Amino acid sequence: MAVHTALFDLDDTLFDHRHARRAALQATRSERSELSRYSLEQLDRSYERLLRDTHLRVMNRQLAQDKGRFLRMSAFLSEFGIDATGREVRRLIELRQEVYRRNRRAVPGAAAVLRRLRASGAVIGVVTNNLRSEQEEKLGVTGLETLVDHLVCSEQAGTLKPDPMIFHIALTATGGRPATAVMVGDRWEDDVIGAARAGIRPIWFHRDSLRKPPRPPAGELRSFRPVARAANVVLGRGRRSE
Ligand SMILES: [Mg+2]
Repeated sequence: MAVHTALFDLDDTLFDHRHARRAALQATRSERSELSRYSLEQLDRSYERLLRDTHLRVMNRQLAQDKGRFLRMSAFLSEFGIDATGREVRRLIELRQEVYRRNRRAVPGAAAVLRRLRASGAVIGVVTNNLRSEQEEKLGVTGLETLVDHLVCSEQAGTLKPDPMIFHIALTATGGRPATAVMVGDRWEDDVIGAARAGIRPIWFHRDSLRKPPRPPAGELRSFRPVARAANVVLGRGRRSE
């Protein structure tokens, strides 16, 4: 069956959050010599874990965004034995924000894949657990905005992935239905399990060498390049030969 709706996650699927995040961490590390003992991967793992925790609390409105950033940076510094003043924490947050914003880009190949999908008649939707203003800005800066037909953010949807409801809201927006939809995303729980529960064919997009869990059945993409191959995986062409 032809794909009517192709849904995508935004952060670390279409938008290269990891690239911007690592550039920002590198800048933070060069500001504080105590961090230079650690590899970027170590710092990144720690920051990403703290980000997941505070992000979820911000999304659930238990924490204001600024306060979340402050707690995250303070916790990050103290994990590496740095005792910083409030002023220093705020300065590092500002630096981090500036470098992050300067390094925003699309995941390589993402725009070309979206163009192909659209050329084949698919409607493109983005389903993301984040604030609308932030996600709109990312789409605008990366030029992906013109390739996305509908943006569904948890903030307006009133629910977060993996709740199947947010996928149904997205399908209502695109005029699609689960049987002819596909969802591409990097988080197994949120994107793959969530989509599968909504009856949508999931594709796990991951750029690392991670082992795919056996259930639920899901397609797999490690890169959007080569573009033709990635588009075919999304469109479900040649699935049996994979
Ligand atoms: Mg993601």
